[in-house]
Amino acid sequence: MKKIFFLGECMVELRAVDNTTLNQAFAGDVYNSAVYLKRCFNEINSVIVTALGKDVLSEKMRHCFAAEQLGTQLVFAHPEKVPGMYYIETDEHGERSFTYWRSDSAARKVVDFFNPAVIDELASGDMLFFSGISLAVIEPRARDIFWQTVRDLKAAGVTVVFDPNYRARLWQSVEETKQQYELAFKSADISLPGVEDLQVLYGVNSVDDVLAHMSQFDINEIVVKNGPESVLTLVDGQLQSHQITPVENVVDTTSAGDAFNGVYLGARLSGACVSDAVSKAAKAAAIVIQQPGAITAKDIFNRAMVDSQ
Ligand code: ADP
Repeated sequence: MKKIFFLGECMVELRAVDNTTLNQAFAGDVYNSAVYLKRCFNEINSVIVTALGKDVLSEKMRHCFAAEQLGTQLVFAHPEKVPGMYYIETDEHGERSFTYWRSDSAARKVVDFFNPAVIDELASGDMLFFSGISLAVIEPRARDIFWQTVRDLKAAGVTVVFDPNYRARLWQSVEETKQQYELAFKSADISLPGVEDLQVLYGVNSVDDVLAHMSQFDINEIVVKNGPESVLTLVDGQLQSHQITPVENVVDTTSAGDAFNGVYLGARLSGACVSDAVSKAAKAAAIVIQQPGAITAKDIFNRAMVDSQ
């Protein structure tokens, strides 16, 4: 059975339904990807690597992971910390605003739980996925251990996957981000950048610019996402442009890129060629953006995936 580890943070999501009602769910980029991968490729072990607490919400989150059939052997329980949380509100013009409580979350401690048994388990995987958000969440004091682990896993044959997913507010400075991203690009075998993510950091404005920027690193598989415009892939030196069918009635673009990543990687782990993997990933992302929230209800998502074949 193929196995992929998604390392990062899952948060409590509070969504305003109206002035007096909040809808509570769980979401976070790596978690979203892990869920959509598992829903599309049940035969792959999709494992989440994170730290939660020992509180009621952490317990509910663990149940939610299990309900999505994710592997939870590397979901650690911090004795004092609790999960991060965010509140999302959409105004009358469809503009979303987010408020976060995540600066002291349990997930920031995830590397503290690494030990030889954990590293052995990670080394048993086919892929390790982390994002720019994962990197921002890992505490600076734990970075050396994290990068040493990535190097060890790579040496053990694990495919390292990185999505830059840049969130300025999670970083102290652009220099700090660039320094961490450089290490990530240097260790990645697969990278899935969005054009917008790299615009602020490197002044790149198009998929071609992104590819040119990435070509200085030794990344075998680059997948550049550009919303409804197109997807450009450079895999084993072969460049391909993939058309995207724009969705007319976009409800909420949250987690479009996450769904794309999860399904793309699941397809590749299952042996699909690049264009089939992009096509399936784009279908999943198109379904997700026609529903509110990061995680589309399972029955709606699964039915829409079947209908889109
Ligand atoms: P991110 O969510 O990481 O910013 P993108 O906005 O590039 O990433 O979206 C990721 C994927 O979602 C795209 O590659 C595309 O397949 C799909 N997607 C995004 N916006 C649209 C849209 N308006 N119509 C159809 N597909 C879309």
